[in-house]
Amino acid sequence: MTAELIVRTGPQEYECREGVLSTLPKRLEERFVKNILIVHGTVSWQKARPYLEDLYGADFAITEAAFSGECSYEEVERIVGLAAQHESDAIIGVGGGKIMDAVKYAAAKAGCILNVMIPTLASNCAPWTPLSVMYSEDGVFIRYDFLPQQASLLLLEPRLIIDSPKDFFVAGLADTLAKWYESDEILSLPENAQQPMLMMARQAAFICRQSILDHAELAIASLEAGEVTEAFVKLTEVITSISGMVGGMGDAFARTTIAHEIHDAITNFPESHHFLHGHKVAYGIMVQLAYEKKWAEIDNLIPFYEHLGLPKSLHDLHLDRLDADGIMEIARLSTKPEAPAHGLPYLVTADLMDGAIQALEEYMASLPEL
Ligand SMILES: [Zn+2]
Repeated sequence: MTAELIVRTGPQEYECREGVLSTLPKRLEERFVKNILIVHGTVSWQKARPYLEDLYGADFAITEAAFSGECSYEEVERIVGLAAQHESDAIIGVGGGKIMDAVKYAAAKAGCILNVMIPTLASNCAPWTPLSVMYSEDGVFIRYDFLPQQASLLLLEPRLIIDSPKDFFVAGLADTLAKWYESDEILSLPENAQQPMLMMARQAAFICRQSILDHAELAIASLEAGEVTEAFVKLTEVITSISGMVGGMGDAFARTTIAHEIHDAITNFPESHHFLHGHKVAYGIMVQLAYEKKWAEIDNLIPFYEHLGLPKSLHDLHLDRLDADGIMEIARLSTKPEAPAHGLPYLVTADLMDGAIQALEEYMASLPEL
Protein backbone atom coordinates (compact mmCIF):
# COMPACT_ATOMS: atom_id res chain seq x y z
CA MET A 1 0.00 0.00 0.00
CA THR A 2 1.07 3.60 -0.61
CA ALA A 3 2.95 5.22 2.25
CA GLU A 4 0.95 7.49 4.53
CA LEU A 5 -2.42 6.37 3.22
CA ILE A 6 -5.04 5.71 5.90
CA VAL A 7 -8.22 4.12 4.59
CA ARG A 8 -11.47 4.98 6.34
CA THR A 9 -14.37 3.03 4.91
CA GLY A 10 -18.00 4.05 5.18
CA PRO A 11 -20.74 2.90 7.58
CA GLN A 12 -20.79 -0.60 9.06
CA GLU A 13 -24.12 -1.12 7.33
CA TYR A 14 -25.83 0.90 4.60
CA GLU A 15 -29.12 0.57 2.82
CA CYS A 16 -30.91 2.90 0.43
CA ARG A 17 -34.50 2.13 -0.55
CA GLU A 18 -38.07 3.21 0.02
CA GLY A 19 -39.37 1.74 3.27
CA VAL A 20 -35.94 1.21 4.78
CA LEU A 21 -36.82 3.02 8.04
CA SER A 22 -39.36 0.35 8.98
CA THR A 23 -36.38 -1.98 9.49
CA LEU A 24 -34.85 0.29 12.13
CA PRO A 25 -36.41 -1.40 15.24
CA LYS A 26 -35.16 -4.85 14.15
CA ARG A 27 -31.71 -3.51 13.37
CA LEU A 28 -31.46 -1.81 16.75
CA GLU A 29 -32.69 -4.93 18.57
CA GLU A 30 -30.00 -6.98 16.80
CA ARG A 31 -27.52 -4.52 18.27
CA PHE A 32 -28.98 -4.90 21.82
CA VAL A 33 -30.03 -1.26 21.96
CA LYS A 34 -32.42 -0.23 24.76
CA ASN A 35 -32.09 3.54 25.22
CA ILE A 36 -32.09 5.81 22.20
CA LEU A 37 -31.25 9.49 21.94
CA ILE A 38 -32.59 11.15 18.76
CA VAL A 39 -30.98 14.44 17.69
CA HIS A 40 -33.05 16.18 15.04
CA GLY A 41 -33.56 19.43 13.16
CA THR A 42 -36.81 21.36 12.90
CA VAL A 43 -38.21 20.99 9.39
CA SER A 44 -36.37 17.70 8.96
CA TRP A 45 -38.03 16.29 12.06
CA GLN A 46 -41.53 17.16 10.85
CA LYS A 47 -40.71 15.37 7.59
CA ALA A 48 -39.04 12.34 9.14
CA ARG A 49 -41.17 11.63 12.21
CA PRO A 50 -44.01 9.90 10.25
CA TYR A 51 -41.47 7.39 8.92
CA LEU A 52 -40.50 6.36 12.46
CA GLU A 53 -43.85 4.96 13.65
CA ASP A 54 -42.41 1.44 13.87
CA LEU A 55 -39.55 2.69 16.02
CA TYR A 56 -41.89 4.47 18.42
CA GLY A 57 -44.18 1.41 18.50
CA ALA A 58 -41.33 -0.87 19.58
CA ASP A 59 -39.94 -1.39 23.06
CA PHE A 60 -37.27 1.33 23.31
CA ALA A 61 -36.83 4.22 25.71
CA ILE A 62 -36.56 7.25 23.41
CA THR A 63 -35.30 10.74 24.27
CA GLU A 64 -35.57 13.52 21.69
CA ALA A 65 -33.27 16.54 21.50
CA ALA A 66 -33.45 19.43 19.02
CA PHE A 67 -30.13 20.27 17.38
CA SER A 68 -28.65 23.69 18.21
CA GLY A 69 -27.95 24.43 14.53
CA GLU A 70 -24.13 24.31 14.59
CA CYS A 71 -21.70 21.40 14.74
CA SER A 72 -19.59 22.99 17.48
CA TYR A 73 -17.53 21.46 20.30
CA GLU A 74 -20.11 22.89 22.74
CA GLU A 75 -22.96 21.16 20.93
CA VAL A 76 -21.06 17.86 20.83
CA GLU A 77 -20.49 18.12 24.61
CA ARG A 78 -24.18 18.84 25.16
CA ILE A 79 -25.17 15.71 23.19
CA VAL A 80 -22.59 13.61 25.06
CA GLY A 81 -24.12 14.92 28.34
CA LEU A 82 -27.64 14.00 27.22
CA ALA A 83 -26.49 10.52 26.23
CA ALA A 84 -24.88 10.04 29.65
CA GLN A 85 -27.91 11.38 31.51
CA HIS A 86 -30.28 9.01 29.69
CA GLU A 87 -27.80 6.10 29.56
CA SER A 88 -28.27 6.02 25.79
CA ASP A 89 -26.69 3.12 23.95
CA ALA A 90 -27.42 4.61 20.52
CA ILE A 91 -27.69 8.14 19.11
CA ILE A 92 -29.76 8.67 15.98
CA GLY A 93 -29.20 11.79 13.87
CA VAL A 94 -32.10 12.96 11.68
CA GLY A 95 -31.43 15.93 9.38
CA GLY A 96 -28.67 17.56 7.35
CA GLY A 97 -24.88 17.28 7.34
CA LYS A 98 -24.15 19.28 10.49
CA ILE A 99 -26.45 17.06 12.57
CA MET A 100 -24.74 13.96 11.14
CA ASP A 101 -21.33 15.40 12.02
CA ALA A 102 -22.35 16.33 15.58
CA VAL A 103 -23.99 12.95 16.25
CA LYS A 104 -21.01 10.96 14.90
CA TYR A 105 -18.65 12.96 17.08
CA ALA A 106 -20.84 12.73 20.21
CA ALA A 107 -21.29 8.95 19.82
CA ALA A 108 -17.52 8.51 19.55
CA LYS A 109 -16.91 10.74 22.54
CA ALA A 110 -19.59 9.01 24.61
CA GLY A 111 -17.44 5.85 24.46
CA CYS A 112 -17.91 4.73 20.85
CA ILE A 113 -21.60 3.95 21.26
CA LEU A 114 -23.78 3.17 18.23
CA ASN A 115 -24.75 5.98 15.88
CA VAL A 116 -27.42 5.91 13.20
CA MET A 117 -27.57 8.36 10.30
CA ILE A 118 -30.95 9.25 8.78
CA PRO A 119 -30.26 12.07 6.27
CA THR A 120 -33.11 14.28 5.09
CA LEU A 121 -31.01 16.08 2.45
CA ALA A 122 -28.61 14.87 -0.22
CA SER A 123 -26.04 17.65 -0.25
CA ASN A 124 -22.77 16.11 0.99
CA CYS A 125 -21.08 12.93 2.21
CA ALA A 126 -21.37 13.72 5.94
CA PRO A 127 -23.56 10.64 6.62
CA TRP A 128 -20.86 8.43 5.10
CA THR A 129 -17.51 9.70 6.34
CA PRO A 130 -16.00 9.20 9.82
CA LEU A 131 -15.01 12.83 10.17
CA SER A 132 -16.74 15.94 11.45
CA VAL A 133 -16.42 19.47 10.11
CA MET A 134 -16.23 21.65 13.22
CA TYR A 135 -17.51 25.22 13.53
CA SER A 136 -17.57 27.80 16.31
CA GLU A 137 -20.98 28.50 17.86
CA ASP A 138 -21.17 31.53 15.51
CA GLY A 139 -20.72 29.32 12.47
CA VAL A 140 -17.06 30.04 11.65
CA PHE A 141 -15.19 27.02 10.24
CA ILE A 142 -12.53 25.67 12.64
CA ARG A 143 -11.21 22.35 11.28
CA TYR A 144 -11.95 18.74 10.26
CA ASP A 145 -11.66 16.13 13.00
CA PHE A 146 -11.28 12.47 12.10
CA LEU A 147 -13.26 10.09 14.31
CA PRO A 148 -12.21 6.68 15.69
CA GLN A 149 -15.43 4.97 14.56
CA GLN A 150 -17.63 5.06 11.49
CA ALA A 151 -21.44 5.29 11.42
CA SER A 152 -23.05 2.09 12.68
CA LEU A 153 -25.97 2.38 10.28
CA LEU A 154 -26.78 4.67 7.37
CA LEU A 155 -30.38 4.42 6.20
CA LEU A 156 -31.30 6.46 3.11
CA GLU A 157 -35.04 6.81 2.55
CA PRO A 158 -35.38 8.46 -0.90
CA ARG A 159 -38.90 9.75 -0.12
CA LEU A 160 -37.44 11.85 2.70
CA ILE A 161 -34.95 13.47 0.33
CA ILE A 162 -37.18 13.99 -2.72
CA ASP A 163 -38.82 17.11 -1.28
CA SER A 164 -35.60 18.81 -0.22
CA PRO A 165 -34.89 22.22 -1.80
CA LYS A 166 -33.60 22.04 -5.40
CA ASP A 167 -30.75 24.47 -4.71
CA PHE A 168 -29.26 22.16 -2.08
CA PHE A 169 -29.49 19.16 -4.38
CA VAL A 170 -27.86 21.04 -7.28
CA ALA A 171 -25.14 22.36 -4.95
CA GLY A 172 -24.58 18.80 -3.72
CA LEU A 173 -24.18 17.65 -7.33
CA ALA A 174 -21.61 20.36 -8.07
CA ASP A 175 -19.65 19.63 -4.89
CA THR A 176 -19.61 15.93 -5.82
CA LEU A 177 -18.60 16.66 -9.42
CA ALA A 178 -15.50 18.39 -8.01
CA LYS A 179 -14.27 15.06 -6.57
CA TRP A 180 -13.12 13.97 -10.03
CA TYR A 181 -11.58 17.25 -11.19
CA GLU A 182 -9.75 17.89 -7.93
CA SER A 183 -8.21 14.41 -7.68
CA ASP A 184 -7.68 13.57 -11.37
CA GLU A 185 -4.11 14.87 -11.71
CA ILE A 186 -2.86 13.27 -8.48
CA LEU A 187 -4.56 9.89 -8.84
CA SER A 188 -3.48 9.50 -12.46
CA LEU A 189 0.22 9.90 -11.66
CA PRO A 190 2.16 6.74 -12.66
CA GLU A 191 3.18 6.08 -9.05
CA ASN A 192 -0.45 6.27 -7.88
CA ALA A 193 -2.38 4.83 -10.81
CA GLN A 194 -1.63 1.20 -9.90
CA GLN A 195 -2.07 1.44 -6.12
CA PRO A 196 -5.13 -0.68 -5.23
CA MET A 197 -6.73 1.73 -2.75
CA LEU A 198 -6.07 4.73 -4.98
CA MET A 199 -7.57 2.84 -7.93
CA MET A 200 -10.72 2.41 -5.81
CA ALA A 201 -10.71 6.12 -4.97
CA ARG A 202 -10.28 7.04 -8.64
CA GLN A 203 -13.10 4.73 -9.69
CA ALA A 204 -15.38 6.33 -7.07
CA ALA A 205 -14.43 9.79 -8.38
CA PHE A 206 -15.12 8.60 -11.94
CA ILE A 207 -18.59 7.37 -10.91
CA CYS A 208 -19.22 10.78 -9.32
CA ARG A 209 -18.45 12.63 -12.55
CA GLN A 210 -20.04 10.26 -15.03
CA SER A 211 -23.29 9.58 -13.22
CA ILE A 212 -23.83 13.28 -12.53
CA LEU A 213 -23.23 14.28 -16.16
CA ASP A 214 -25.47 11.43 -17.35
CA HIS A 215 -28.37 11.65 -14.91
CA ALA A 216 -28.50 15.12 -13.30
CA GLU A 217 -31.15 16.46 -15.68
CA LEU A 218 -33.53 13.58 -15.00
CA ALA A 219 -32.81 13.57 -11.26
CA ILE A 220 -33.57 17.29 -10.97
CA ALA A 221 -36.78 16.85 -12.97
CA SER A 222 -37.74 14.07 -10.51
CA LEU A 223 -37.06 16.35 -7.56
CA GLU A 224 -39.17 19.11 -9.12
CA ALA A 225 -42.02 16.67 -9.73
CA GLY A 226 -41.63 15.13 -6.27
CA GLU A 227 -41.32 11.66 -7.82
CA VAL A 228 -38.70 9.14 -6.72
CA THR A 229 -37.08 7.77 -9.91
CA GLU A 230 -34.07 5.56 -10.58
CA ALA A 231 -32.00 8.58 -11.67
CA PHE A 232 -32.87 10.46 -8.49
CA VAL A 233 -31.99 7.55 -6.20
CA LYS A 234 -28.77 6.97 -8.13
CA LEU A 235 -27.58 10.56 -7.67
CA THR A 236 -28.71 10.63 -4.03
CA GLU A 237 -26.41 7.65 -3.46
CA VAL A 238 -23.61 9.27 -5.45
CA ILE A 239 -23.77 12.53 -3.46
CA THR A 240 -24.04 10.80 -0.08
CA SER A 241 -22.09 7.59 -0.40
CA ILE A 242 -19.89 7.24 -3.50
CA SER A 243 -18.46 10.73 -2.91
CA GLY A 244 -17.53 9.65 0.63
CA MET A 245 -15.49 6.79 -0.82
CA VAL A 246 -13.23 9.12 -2.81
CA GLY A 247 -11.59 10.60 0.31
CA GLY A 248 -12.26 7.41 2.30
CA MET A 249 -10.09 5.28 -0.01
CA GLY A 250 -7.79 8.00 -1.28
CA ASP A 251 -7.12 9.94 1.94
CA ALA A 252 -4.75 12.86 1.33
CA PHE A 253 -4.30 11.78 -2.33
CA ALA A 254 -7.98 12.49 -3.08
CA ARG A 255 -8.89 15.48 -0.98
CA THR A 256 -9.92 18.91 -2.14
CA THR A 257 -7.52 20.99 -4.25
CA ILE A 258 -7.97 24.10 -6.42
CA ALA A 259 -11.79 24.08 -6.78
CA HIS A 260 -12.22 24.22 -2.99
CA GLU A 261 -9.35 26.67 -2.49
CA ILE A 262 -11.10 29.04 -4.89
CA HIS A 263 -14.32 28.51 -2.95
CA ASP A 264 -12.59 29.38 0.32
CA ALA A 265 -10.98 32.47 -1.22
CA ILE A 266 -14.20 33.90 -2.65
CA THR A 267 -16.04 33.52 0.68
CA ASN A 268 -14.04 36.64 1.63
CA PHE A 269 -16.21 38.68 -0.73
CA PRO A 270 -19.71 39.38 0.63
CA GLU A 271 -21.33 39.24 -2.85
CA SER A 272 -20.70 35.51 -2.91
CA HIS A 273 -22.43 34.82 0.41
CA HIS A 274 -25.84 34.05 -0.98
CA PHE A 275 -24.37 31.32 -3.17
CA LEU A 276 -24.28 27.86 -1.58
CA HIS A 277 -21.01 26.02 -0.98
CA GLY A 278 -21.50 23.78 -4.02
CA HIS A 279 -22.17 26.71 -6.33
CA LYS A 280 -18.89 28.36 -5.40
CA VAL A 281 -17.09 25.04 -5.78
CA ALA A 282 -18.64 24.77 -9.27
CA TYR A 283 -16.87 27.99 -10.25
CA GLY A 284 -13.72 26.60 -8.63
CA ILE A 285 -13.87 23.56 -10.95
CA MET A 286 -13.81 25.94 -13.92
CA VAL A 287 -10.79 27.79 -12.51
CA GLN A 288 -8.98 24.50 -11.88
CA LEU A 289 -9.62 23.41 -15.48
CA ALA A 290 -8.44 26.82 -16.77
CA TYR A 291 -5.30 26.49 -14.62
CA GLU A 292 -4.68 23.07 -16.16
CA LYS A 293 -5.49 24.51 -19.63
CA LYS A 294 -8.17 21.86 -20.16
CA TRP A 295 -10.33 24.08 -22.35
CA ALA A 296 -11.94 21.16 -24.16
CA GLU A 297 -13.29 19.90 -20.84
CA ILE A 298 -14.53 23.39 -20.00
CA ASP A 299 -16.42 23.37 -23.33
CA ASN A 300 -17.78 19.98 -22.43
CA LEU A 301 -19.12 21.24 -19.08
CA ILE A 302 -20.59 24.56 -20.25
CA PRO A 303 -23.99 23.21 -21.41
CA PHE A 304 -24.30 21.25 -18.15
CA TYR A 305 -23.51 24.37 -16.09
CA GLU A 306 -25.98 26.43 -18.10
CA HIS A 307 -28.70 23.86 -17.58
CA LEU A 308 -28.17 23.66 -13.81
CA GLY A 309 -27.61 27.40 -13.40
CA LEU A 310 -24.10 26.91 -12.00
CA PRO A 311 -21.69 29.89 -12.04
CA LYS A 312 -18.89 29.66 -14.63
CA SER A 313 -17.30 33.06 -14.08
CA LEU A 314 -16.84 35.89 -11.59
CA HIS A 315 -19.59 37.64 -13.55
CA ASP A 316 -22.00 34.80 -12.73
CA LEU A 317 -20.99 35.11 -9.05
CA HIS A 318 -21.86 38.83 -9.11
CA LEU A 319 -18.18 39.63 -8.64
CA ASP A 320 -17.59 41.61 -11.86
CA ARG A 321 -16.64 44.62 -9.77
CA LEU A 322 -13.30 42.96 -8.94
CA ASP A 323 -10.39 44.80 -10.51
CA ALA A 324 -6.90 43.40 -11.09
CA ASP A 325 -6.09 43.75 -7.37
CA GLY A 326 -9.26 41.92 -6.35
CA ILE A 327 -8.53 39.03 -8.68
CA MET A 328 -4.95 38.90 -7.44
CA GLU A 329 -6.34 38.73 -3.89
CA ILE A 330 -8.35 35.59 -4.80
CA ALA A 331 -5.25 34.16 -6.47
CA ARG A 332 -3.12 34.82 -3.38
CA LEU A 333 -5.67 33.48 -0.90
CA SER A 334 -6.16 30.30 -2.92
CA THR A 335 -2.44 29.56 -3.19
CA LYS A 336 -1.29 30.34 0.36
CA PRO A 337 1.58 28.11 1.52
CA GLU A 338 -0.62 25.74 3.56
CA ALA A 339 -3.14 25.23 0.69
CA PRO A 340 -3.69 21.53 -0.17
CA ALA A 341 -3.51 22.57 -3.84
CA HIS A 342 0.29 22.44 -3.46
CA GLY A 343 -0.07 18.64 -3.38
CA LEU A 344 -0.93 18.77 -7.09
CA PRO A 345 1.79 17.47 -9.42
CA TYR A 346 2.43 20.89 -10.94
CA LEU A 347 3.55 24.26 -9.68
CA VAL A 348 0.76 26.25 -8.04
CA THR A 349 1.52 30.00 -7.75
CA ALA A 350 -0.52 33.14 -7.25
CA ASP A 351 0.65 34.55 -10.61
CA LEU A 352 -0.43 31.48 -12.55
CA MET A 353 -3.75 31.40 -10.64
CA ASP A 354 -4.30 35.06 -11.43
CA GLY A 355 -3.68 34.30 -15.10
CA ALA A 356 -6.09 31.34 -15.03
CA ILE A 357 -8.90 33.39 -13.42
CA GLN A 358 -8.46 36.19 -15.97
CA ALA A 359 -8.25 33.81 -18.93
CA LEU A 360 -11.44 32.06 -17.75
CA GLU A 361 -13.25 35.38 -17.37
CA GLU A 362 -12.30 36.44 -20.89
CA TYR A 363 -13.21 33.04 -22.30
CA MET A 364 -16.68 33.06 -20.71
CA ALA A 365 -17.30 36.68 -21.78
CA SER A 366 -16.44 35.74 -25.39
CA LEU A 367 -19.02 32.94 -25.57
CA PRO A 368 -22.04 33.63 -27.77
CA GLU A 369 -25.28 34.06 -25.78
CA LEU A 370 -27.25 30.82 -25.76
ZN1 LIG B 1 -17.23 20.76 -0.76
